[in-house]
Amino acid sequence: MPSSPDWRTAARSFGRLRLWQGDITRLDTDAIVNAANSSLLGGGGVDGAIHRAGGPQILEECRAIRARQGSLPTGQAVITSGGRLPARYVIHTVGPVWNGGHKREPQLLADCYRNSLQLAADHQLTSVAFPGISTGIYGYPKPEALRIAVHEAQAFLAAHAAPETVVFVVFDEESFRLYEQALSA
Ligand code: ADP
Repeated sequence: MPSSPDWRTAARSFGRLRLWQGDITRLDTDAIVNAANSSLLGGGGVDGAIHRAGGPQILEECRAIRARQGSLPTGQAVITSGGRLPARYVIHTVGPVWNGGHKREPQLLADCYRNSLQLAADHQLTSVAFPGISTGIYGYPKPEALRIAVHEAQAFLAAHAAPETVVFVVFDEESFRLYEQALSA
């Protein structure tokens, strides 16, 4: 599938934040973020799509990270190359499984965004794209999850020059509208 550079033009802009609807594996941002699981060995949803599109190199690098430091705790993030993806890097982060909201899910989801953005800053990346971490198989309610995503990105960008641009990638219309509301507020 061809890469999609149109996030630069077709995405809706909210300052340094962008909102783009489509398949994150097609984006040629410097990095895309993967909603991984602790094993780092791939899974369903966006994780499966990233490994399928990016090829075996990403999994090899994930295995090497796992061999060095074990499984990845919830809220933490690591970086690999993008393999065959148009993006140069993949930042893998493990979102919390929704358990009613009293198991530190909001803090852990905020950690995912902050730690992923810190890795992007450490690597002096210009653009990074996020899917709705935890909002698929992990069951986090979308309105609450995207409020955390927007808040953490805004706070990080206010304090850092890099990354220059953060793209929120949504698959469905409902998420698009929810982000639009949160970003316009
Ligand atoms: P989690 O296990 O963290 O919930 P999922 O992969 O199940 O992760 O879903 C996270 C979000 O990513 C969901 O909102 C889902 O609709 C979305 N999603 C799934 N595939 C893609 C893709 N190829 N591009 C962008 N978003 C995707």
